[in-house]
Amino acid sequence: MPIDPTLPYDPNNIFAKILRGEIPCKKVYEDDFSLAFHDIAPQAKLHVLVIPKGAYVSWDDFSAKASETEIAGFIRAVGHVARDLGLVAPGYRLLANVGQDGGQEVPHLHVHLFGGEPLGRMIG
Ligand code: 5GP
Repeated sequence: MPIDPTLPYDPNNIFAKILRGEIPCKKVYEDDFSLAFHDIAPQAKLHVLVIPKGAYVSWDDFSAKASETEIAGFIRAVGHVARDLGLVAPGYRLLANVGQDGGQEVPHLHVHLFGGEPLGRMIG
């Protein structure tokens, strides 16, 4: 069920629970600003989610309210994860769903990182 990104942050969403260690995850990377873990229902051979540690619902409030340090830290973390997983040479795809039309289901900002196989073109 897609979420409404204009609602306040829900501290009991599933990724908030993962960040607090209340729900386990298969972690691939962590730093001061971000956590990356394998998606529970992978849509590609490799499907990792990268999330900021701050309480942001979507790309919308993150881009509007996060500090430069948080934004830079998160973007660097996404690149770091891709490099760590050896995806730069073969390539990979990043995706961030926002709200109903974007099909976002978990109300904590996450970037999907897909790779490990040819993904085909999404556009054109
Ligand atoms: P969205 O549709 O919000 O962009 O993507 C949410 C993603 O979170 C989905 O790909 C879904 O499989 C994943 N997901 C949902 N619940 C869990 C969970 O408890 N653990 C992990 N690792 N991934 C989850």
